[in-house]
Amino acid sequence: MKVSLIIPCYNEEGNVRPLYDTVVRTFENAVSDYEFVFVNDGSFDRTPDVLNDLVATADKPVKAVHFSRNYGKESAILAGLNEASGDCFTIMDGDLQQGPDVVVEMVRYLEEHPECDCVTAFQESRSESPVMVFFKDSFYRIINRVSDVEFVSGASDFRTFRRNVRDAVLSMPETSRFSKGIFSWVGFETHYIPYTAAERLTGTSKWNFFKLWRYAISGIISFTTTPLRLPLVFGGITGSAAVASAVFDKKKKDRALPAILGTGSVLLFAIGVLGEYIARVFQETKHRPVYLIKEVLDNQKERSE
Ligand code: UDP
Ligand code: MG
Repeated sequence: MKVSLIIPCYNEEGNVRPLYDTVVRTFENAVSDYEFVFVNDGSFDRTPDVLNDLVATADKPVKAVHFSRNYGKESAILAGLNEASGDCFTIMDGDLQQGPDVVVEMVRYLEEHPECDCVTAFQESRSESPVMVFFKDSFYRIINRVSDVEFVSGASDFRTFRRNVRDAVLSMPETSRFSKGIFSWVGFETHYIPYTAAERLTGTSKWNFFKLWRYAISGIISFTTTPLRLPLVFGGITGSAAVASAVFDKKKKDRALPAILGTGSVLLFAIGVLGEYIARVFQETKHRPVYLIKEVLDNQKERSE
Protein backbone atom coordinates (compact mmCIF):
# COMPACT_ATOMS: atom_id res chain seq x y z
CA MET A 1 0.00 0.00 0.00
CA LYS A 2 1.62 3.25 -1.14
CA VAL A 3 1.38 6.03 1.42
CA SER A 4 1.27 9.69 0.34
CA LEU A 5 2.38 12.08 3.05
CA ILE A 6 0.71 15.44 2.51
CA ILE A 7 2.55 18.18 4.36
CA PRO A 8 1.36 21.82 4.27
CA CYS A 9 4.26 24.18 4.93
CA TYR A 10 4.13 27.88 5.65
CA ASN A 11 7.53 29.22 6.71
CA GLU A 12 8.96 25.89 7.85
CA GLU A 13 12.54 26.38 6.60
CA GLY A 14 14.10 24.74 9.66
CA ASN A 15 11.69 21.81 9.77
CA VAL A 16 11.44 20.39 6.26
CA ARG A 17 14.76 18.51 6.19
CA PRO A 18 14.50 17.16 9.77
CA LEU A 19 10.94 16.02 9.00
CA TYR A 20 12.09 14.19 5.87
CA ASP A 21 14.98 12.54 7.75
CA THR A 22 12.81 11.52 10.70
CA VAL A 23 10.16 9.99 8.44
CA VAL A 24 12.75 8.04 6.42
CA ARG A 25 14.34 6.75 9.64
CA THR A 26 11.02 5.82 11.25
CA PHE A 27 9.61 4.16 8.14
CA GLU A 28 12.77 2.15 7.46
CA ASN A 29 11.50 -1.27 8.52
CA ALA A 30 7.82 -0.39 8.77
CA VAL A 31 6.57 1.29 5.57
CA SER A 32 8.27 0.58 2.27
CA ASP A 33 6.29 2.40 -0.41
CA TYR A 34 5.68 6.10 0.18
CA GLU A 35 6.01 9.60 -1.23
CA PHE A 36 6.24 13.10 0.20
CA VAL A 37 3.94 15.81 -1.12
CA PHE A 38 5.05 19.11 0.40
CA VAL A 39 2.77 22.06 -0.30
CA ASN A 40 4.57 25.37 0.11
CA ASP A 41 1.72 27.69 1.04
CA GLY A 42 3.36 30.95 -0.08
CA SER A 43 6.19 30.87 2.47
CA PHE A 44 8.34 34.02 2.59
CA ASP A 45 11.31 32.44 4.39
CA ARG A 46 13.72 29.94 2.80
CA THR A 47 11.15 27.09 2.67
CA PRO A 48 10.92 27.17 -1.18
CA ASP A 49 14.71 26.78 -1.54
CA VAL A 50 14.88 24.08 1.12
CA LEU A 51 12.09 22.17 -0.64
CA ASN A 52 13.66 22.48 -4.09
CA ASP A 53 16.96 21.32 -2.66
CA LEU A 54 15.19 18.34 -1.09
CA VAL A 55 13.55 17.44 -4.42
CA ALA A 56 16.98 17.54 -6.06
CA THR A 57 18.79 15.44 -3.47
CA ALA A 58 16.28 13.12 -1.77
CA ASP A 59 16.45 9.34 -2.28
CA LYS A 60 12.71 8.96 -1.72
CA PRO A 61 9.97 10.32 -3.99
CA VAL A 62 9.40 13.99 -3.15
CA LYS A 63 7.02 16.44 -4.76
CA ALA A 64 7.07 20.15 -3.94
CA VAL A 65 3.96 22.11 -4.85
CA HIS A 66 4.52 25.88 -4.68
CA PHE A 67 1.48 28.12 -4.34
CA SER A 68 1.39 31.58 -5.93
CA ARG A 69 0.75 33.07 -2.45
CA ASN A 70 -0.46 32.08 1.01
CA TYR A 71 -3.93 30.52 0.72
CA GLY A 72 -4.13 28.85 4.15
CA LYS A 73 -3.62 25.33 5.46
CA GLU A 74 -7.01 24.08 4.23
CA SER A 75 -6.12 25.00 0.65
CA ALA A 76 -2.71 23.37 1.02
CA ILE A 77 -4.36 20.14 2.19
CA LEU A 78 -6.67 20.20 -0.83
CA ALA A 79 -3.75 20.72 -3.23
CA GLY A 80 -1.86 17.88 -1.55
CA LEU A 81 -4.82 15.56 -2.02
CA ASN A 82 -5.05 16.52 -5.70
CA GLU A 83 -1.33 16.00 -6.32
CA ALA A 84 -0.81 12.77 -4.35
CA SER A 85 -0.78 9.38 -6.05
CA GLY A 86 -0.86 6.89 -3.16
CA ASP A 87 -3.32 4.20 -2.10
CA CYS A 88 -3.66 5.92 1.23
CA PHE A 89 -3.04 9.48 2.32
CA THR A 90 -1.68 10.99 5.51
CA ILE A 91 -2.08 14.66 6.38
CA MET A 92 0.60 15.84 8.78
CA ASP A 93 2.03 19.19 9.84
CA GLY A 94 5.45 20.32 8.70
CA ASP A 95 6.78 21.14 12.17
CA LEU A 96 7.27 17.60 13.55
CA GLN A 97 4.60 18.09 16.22
CA GLN A 98 2.97 14.97 14.83
CA GLY A 99 5.27 11.96 15.07
CA PRO A 100 5.94 9.70 12.06
CA ASP A 101 5.70 6.74 14.48
CA VAL A 102 1.98 7.52 14.79
CA VAL A 103 1.74 7.41 10.98
CA VAL A 104 3.23 3.91 11.06
CA GLU A 105 0.58 2.94 13.60
CA MET A 106 -2.18 4.41 11.42
CA VAL A 107 -0.98 2.68 8.25
CA ARG A 108 -0.65 -0.62 10.07
CA TYR A 109 -4.18 -0.30 11.40
CA LEU A 110 -5.54 0.27 7.88
CA GLU A 111 -3.59 -2.74 6.60
CA GLU A 112 -4.93 -4.98 9.33
CA HIS A 113 -8.52 -3.69 9.17
CA PRO A 114 -9.83 -3.73 5.59
CA GLU A 115 -13.23 -2.57 6.84
CA CYS A 116 -11.74 0.64 8.23
CA ASP A 117 -11.35 3.61 5.83
CA CYS A 118 -9.78 6.29 7.98
CA VAL A 119 -7.61 6.50 11.08
CA THR A 120 -7.67 9.82 12.91
CA ALA A 121 -5.26 10.79 15.66
CA PHE A 122 -6.60 12.88 18.50
CA GLN A 123 -4.77 14.66 21.30
CA GLU A 124 -5.60 13.10 24.63
CA SER A 125 -4.05 15.87 26.65
CA ARG A 126 -3.21 19.34 25.41
CA SER A 127 -0.47 21.50 26.79
CA GLU A 128 -2.36 24.73 26.16
CA SER A 129 -3.43 27.58 28.39
CA PRO A 130 -6.66 26.99 30.37
CA VAL A 131 -8.30 29.85 28.41
CA MET A 132 -7.52 28.16 25.10
CA VAL A 133 -8.71 24.78 26.39
CA PHE A 134 -11.94 26.43 27.58
CA PHE A 135 -12.61 28.06 24.18
CA LYS A 136 -11.76 24.90 22.24
CA ASP A 137 -13.98 22.74 24.48
CA SER A 138 -16.79 25.29 24.14
CA PHE A 139 -16.41 25.23 20.37
CA TYR A 140 -16.83 21.45 20.27
CA ARG A 141 -19.79 21.58 22.67
CA ILE A 142 -21.56 24.22 20.56
CA ILE A 143 -20.84 22.75 17.15
CA ASN A 144 -21.84 19.24 18.23
CA ARG A 145 -25.12 20.54 19.59
CA VAL A 146 -26.07 22.51 16.48
CA SER A 147 -24.54 20.52 13.64
CA ASP A 148 -25.71 17.24 12.09
CA VAL A 149 -22.19 15.83 11.80
CA GLU A 150 -20.06 14.85 14.78
CA PHE A 151 -16.86 16.71 15.67
CA VAL A 152 -14.48 14.79 17.93
CA SER A 153 -12.75 17.02 20.48
CA GLY A 154 -8.97 17.08 20.06
CA ALA A 155 -9.09 15.40 16.63
CA SER A 156 -6.92 17.33 14.22
CA ASP A 157 -6.19 17.01 10.52
CA PHE A 158 -3.61 14.37 11.44
CA ARG A 159 -5.18 11.35 9.79
CA THR A 160 -4.57 8.52 7.31
CA PHE A 161 -7.30 7.39 4.94
CA ARG A 162 -7.96 5.35 1.83
CA ARG A 163 -8.65 6.51 -1.70
CA ASN A 164 -12.43 6.30 -1.26
CA VAL A 165 -12.27 8.93 1.50
CA ARG A 166 -9.95 11.12 -0.55
CA ASP A 167 -12.23 10.95 -3.58
CA ALA A 168 -15.22 11.81 -1.40
CA VAL A 169 -13.39 14.82 0.08
CA LEU A 170 -12.32 15.99 -3.39
CA SER A 171 -15.90 15.69 -4.64
CA MET A 172 -16.96 18.46 -2.24
CA PRO A 173 -16.72 21.64 -4.30
CA GLU A 174 -16.98 24.31 -1.60
CA THR A 175 -14.30 26.97 -1.61
CA SER A 176 -14.57 27.68 2.11
CA ARG A 177 -13.06 24.46 3.39
CA PHE A 178 -13.22 23.29 6.98
CA SER A 179 -11.48 19.91 6.99
CA LYS A 180 -12.69 18.75 10.39
CA GLY A 181 -16.26 19.13 9.16
CA ILE A 182 -15.62 17.80 5.66
CA PHE A 183 -14.10 14.57 7.01
CA SER A 184 -17.02 14.10 9.41
CA TRP A 185 -19.53 14.89 6.70
CA VAL A 186 -18.23 12.30 4.22
CA GLY A 187 -18.58 9.61 6.88
CA PHE A 188 -16.79 6.28 6.30
CA GLU A 189 -15.53 3.90 8.98
CA THR A 190 -13.19 5.95 11.18
CA HIS A 191 -10.96 4.69 13.95
CA TYR A 192 -9.50 7.10 16.52
CA ILE A 193 -6.11 6.69 18.11
CA PRO A 194 -4.63 8.92 20.81
CA TYR A 195 -1.35 10.76 20.32
CA THR A 196 0.65 13.36 22.17
CA ALA A 197 1.70 16.41 20.17
CA ALA A 198 5.38 17.26 20.52
CA GLU A 199 6.74 20.79 20.72
CA ARG A 200 7.20 22.49 17.34
CA LEU A 201 10.80 21.83 16.20
CA THR A 202 11.62 25.38 15.01
CA GLY A 203 9.64 28.51 14.14
CA THR A 204 6.36 29.66 15.62
CA SER A 205 2.72 28.67 15.35
CA LYS A 206 0.75 30.48 12.64
CA TRP A 207 -2.37 30.56 14.77
CA ASN A 208 -3.39 33.22 17.21
CA PHE A 209 -6.60 33.67 19.15
CA PHE A 210 -8.22 35.93 16.53
CA LYS A 211 -7.43 33.53 13.66
CA LEU A 212 -8.77 30.58 15.65
CA TRP A 213 -11.93 32.55 16.44
CA ARG A 214 -12.53 33.25 12.73
CA TYR A 215 -11.79 29.60 11.94
CA ALA A 216 -14.32 28.42 14.54
CA ILE A 217 -17.01 30.80 13.22
CA SER A 218 -16.26 29.63 9.69
CA GLY A 219 -16.66 26.00 10.79
CA ILE A 220 -20.01 26.71 12.43
CA ILE A 221 -21.30 28.66 9.40
CA SER A 222 -20.15 25.92 7.01
CA PHE A 223 -21.80 23.06 8.86
CA THR A 224 -25.00 24.34 10.39
CA THR A 225 -27.73 26.87 9.68
CA THR A 226 -28.94 26.90 13.30
CA PRO A 227 -27.61 30.45 13.97
CA LEU A 228 -29.95 31.72 11.24
CA ARG A 229 -32.87 30.56 13.39
CA LEU A 230 -31.61 32.10 16.63
CA PRO A 231 -33.11 35.55 15.87
CA LEU A 232 -36.51 33.84 15.76
CA VAL A 233 -35.99 32.61 19.31
CA PHE A 234 -34.64 35.94 20.55
CA GLY A 235 -37.43 37.80 18.73
CA GLY A 236 -39.96 35.56 20.45
CA ILE A 237 -38.44 36.24 23.86
CA THR A 238 -38.21 40.02 23.49
CA GLY A 239 -41.69 40.14 21.91
CA SER A 240 -43.18 38.19 24.82
CA ALA A 241 -41.34 40.41 27.29
CA ALA A 242 -42.79 43.50 25.59
CA VAL A 243 -46.34 42.14 25.74
CA ALA A 244 -45.90 41.01 29.35
CA SER A 245 -44.62 44.39 30.45
CA ALA A 246 -47.50 46.17 28.67
CA VAL A 247 -50.09 43.93 30.33
CA PHE A 248 -48.66 43.40 33.82
CA ASP A 249 -46.55 46.44 34.57
CA LYS A 250 -49.25 48.49 36.25
CA LYS A 251 -46.90 51.11 37.62
CA LYS A 252 -45.83 52.03 34.09
CA LYS A 253 -42.32 52.87 35.15
CA ASP A 254 -40.14 54.14 32.34
CA ARG A 255 -38.76 50.99 30.78
CA ALA A 256 -38.24 52.46 27.33
CA LEU A 257 -34.46 52.69 27.38
CA PRO A 258 -33.69 49.07 28.35
CA ALA A 259 -36.36 47.89 25.91
CA ILE A 260 -34.90 49.90 23.04
CA LEU A 261 -31.37 48.79 23.85
CA GLY A 262 -32.46 45.15 24.16
CA THR A 263 -34.41 45.14 20.92
CA GLY A 264 -31.67 47.04 19.12
CA SER A 265 -29.00 44.57 20.12
CA VAL A 266 -31.14 41.59 19.13
CA LEU A 267 -31.69 43.19 15.71
CA LEU A 268 -28.00 43.93 15.25
CA PHE A 269 -27.14 40.37 16.27
CA ALA A 270 -29.63 39.04 13.72
CA ILE A 271 -28.19 41.24 10.97
CA GLY A 272 -24.68 40.12 11.92
CA VAL A 273 -25.63 36.45 11.64
CA LEU A 274 -27.30 37.07 8.28
CA GLY A 275 -24.20 38.95 7.15
CA GLU A 276 -21.94 35.99 7.93
CA TYR A 277 -24.07 33.66 5.83
CA ILE A 278 -24.54 36.13 2.98
CA ALA A 279 -20.79 36.74 2.87
CA ARG A 280 -20.29 33.00 2.54
CA VAL A 281 -22.91 32.70 -0.20
CA PHE A 282 -21.27 35.62 -2.05
CA GLN A 283 -17.85 33.99 -1.83
CA GLU A 284 -19.10 30.60 -2.99
CA THR A 285 -20.98 32.06 -5.98
CA LYS A 286 -17.78 33.60 -7.34
CA HIS A 287 -16.45 30.08 -8.01
CA ARG A 288 -12.87 31.17 -7.64
CA PRO A 289 -10.24 28.44 -7.46
CA VAL A 290 -9.28 27.50 -3.91
CA TYR A 291 -5.57 27.97 -4.73
CA LEU A 292 -3.26 28.72 -7.63
CA ILE A 293 -0.05 26.80 -8.22
CA LYS A 294 3.11 28.54 -9.34
CA GLU A 295 5.23 25.45 -9.85
CA VAL A 296 5.37 21.73 -9.11
CA LEU A 297 8.70 19.96 -8.73
CA ASP A 298 8.75 16.17 -8.68
CA ASN A 299 11.96 14.16 -8.37
CA GLN A 300 10.28 11.08 -9.87
CA LYS A 301 9.39 12.95 -13.05
CA GLU A 302 12.73 14.71 -13.35
CA ARG A 303 14.68 11.48 -12.94
CA SER A 304 12.60 9.57 -15.51
CA GLU A 305 13.02 12.34 -18.11
N1 UDP B 1 0.21 26.14 7.62
C1 UDP B 1 -0.01 26.39 6.27
N2 UDP B 1 -0.58 27.57 5.90
C2 UDP B 1 -0.94 28.52 6.82
C3 UDP B 1 -0.73 28.24 8.19
C4 UDP B 1 -0.16 27.04 8.56
O1 UDP B 1 0.31 25.55 5.42
O2 UDP B 1 -1.43 29.57 6.41
C5 UDP B 1 0.85 24.86 8.02
C6 UDP B 1 2.08 25.02 8.91
O3 UDP B 1 3.25 25.23 8.15
C7 UDP B 1 2.10 23.70 9.65
C8 UDP B 1 0.61 23.37 9.78
O4 UDP B 1 -0.07 24.15 8.80
O5 UDP B 1 2.72 22.68 8.90
C9 UDP B 1 0.09 23.68 11.17
O6 UDP B 1 0.37 25.02 11.48
P1 UDP B 1 0.90 25.45 12.92
O7 UDP B 1 2.00 24.55 13.35
O8 UDP B 1 1.20 26.90 12.85
O9 UDP B 1 -0.39 25.19 13.80
P2 UDP B 1 -0.45 24.64 15.30
O10 UDP B 1 0.33 23.35 15.31
O11 UDP B 1 0.14 25.69 16.15
O12 UDP B 1 -1.92 24.41 15.54
MG1 MG C 1 2.25 23.13 14.71
